[in-house]
Amino acid sequence: MAAAYNPFENAKAQFDSVAGLLELDEGTKALLREPMKEMHFTIPVKMDNGSTQIFKAFRIVHNDARGPGKGGIRFHPHETADTVRALSMWMTWKCAVVDIPLGGGKGGVICDPHNLSQTEQERLCRGYVRRLHSLLGPNQDVPAPDVMTNGQHMLWMLDEYETITGGHYPGMITGKPVGMGGSLGRTEATGYGVIYTLKELLAQMGLTPADTTASMQGFGNVGEYAARKYVELGGKIIAVSCWHQGDKTSYTFRKAEGCNIPELASFKDAFGSINKEKAQAAGYEILPGDQWISQDVDILIPAALENQITPETMAKVNPSVKILCEAANGPTTPDSDALIKERGITLLPDFLCNAGGVTCSYFEQVQCNMNYFWDKEEVLEKLEYAMTKAFRAVYALAKEKNLYMRDAAYVIAINRVAEAVKLRGWV
Ligand code: NAD
Repeated sequence: MAAAYNPFENAKAQFDSVAGLLELDEGTKALLREPMKEMHFTIPVKMDNGSTQIFKAFRIVHNDARGPGKGGIRFHPHETADTVRALSMWMTWKCAVVDIPLGGGKGGVICDPHNLSQTEQERLCRGYVRRLHSLLGPNQDVPAPDVMTNGQHMLWMLDEYETITGGHYPGMITGKPVGMGGSLGRTEATGYGVIYTLKELLAQMGLTPADTTASMQGFGNVGEYAARKYVELGGKIIAVSCWHQGDKTSYTFRKAEGCNIPELASFKDAFGSINKEKAQAAGYEILPGDQWISQDVDILIPAALENQITPETMAKVNPSVKILCEAANGPTTPDSDALIKERGITLLPDFLCNAGGVTCSYFEQVQCNMNYFWDKEEVLEKLEYAMTKAFRAVYALAKEKNLYMRDAAYVIAINRVAEAVKLRGWV
């Protein structure tokens, strides 16, 4: 049986292969392949029934040489220290590749919020900050929402932090609701960012979105806004796959002449699941969930989960596919990269392609620190500029050195962080 997938081993293996290309010295390699700071702690929570439950929690900063730690807090029953370590490391590279002055961090609590009341969740959030407050702050480490956490959780955390510190520090956390320190454009940022980079890649190939078709997995925050922007630019989405909670399986919704994205979005629930009956009535074919990957299209956009592009699923990819646009985090297993290269498919790597979210979180922090908020057009204009610039640098290096795009993105990111630790005199 194959060994269980360990994201931290994977993150270190990716780092090692690029560190070899860069000829980094041993000290820098040793520093960058491990997190700098880890907090493992427990949070006692008074439950609504009068009992006390103890939750295990983590906050890990992989590297803060380029600026305060940045990264989400996940609530998940299967959270592990290794997952948080890997995600914190990927955040370091993500912030570096888009050249924002932030480091990489991540947090997690082992819990299932489905089984917690709102008041229990509030006490858990406040407990998280009570244990960690001296390590958090706009100049130290800046959390954000992630899996199963949202703007309300962030506001409870901010309120606890401000109660303890006795001031207003809205830049201490991002992903807050608009009007309470959140940034306009954050909802759209990750999906739009995906398409800003895709548009640039197509331009390099002498194409525009209007010349292409795509199939996508996932229709949540990232998938929906990526689809909206791609279609707005003239692209055609032939199929969208998403999860059906009631049937405990996924389905692919297909329309050969192109999906009407606002209409499909009106059929979905808060978890990004499309209502089958409504879609059928609107003329969509409903196929098994895995069929999004075998469609006759130019572009595949995995925007749901990790480990979806595997050697097994690669065999189902249609020969028509020219671009794999990694909107999700880690959608491709490391053993698929060789197959992608062999097939001549151009890859837009995840930590470049989906960096629009953290870039907009950075804008939120900047606006909070200034206590001056930009309008949506200004946010999106700055986002497109940042994503386009980052893409062009990666693409130019890939061309110049004949590198796979994932390796080129790693080279740029790791070089920037290696340079920062060197300039600071850490190595
Ligand atoms: P989400 O929870 O809003 O949506 C997830 C979507 O995936 C839903 O449409 C769901 O139905 C679908 N899905 C779940 N299981 C599926 C399956 N087995 N088959 C097909 N579809 C399935 O999540 P999101 O925020 O859109 O995030 C999607 C991915 O993008 C994740 O990998 C996330 O880590 C990454 N990401 C998100 C952001 C962000 O700002 N939200 C930023 C960077 C990266």
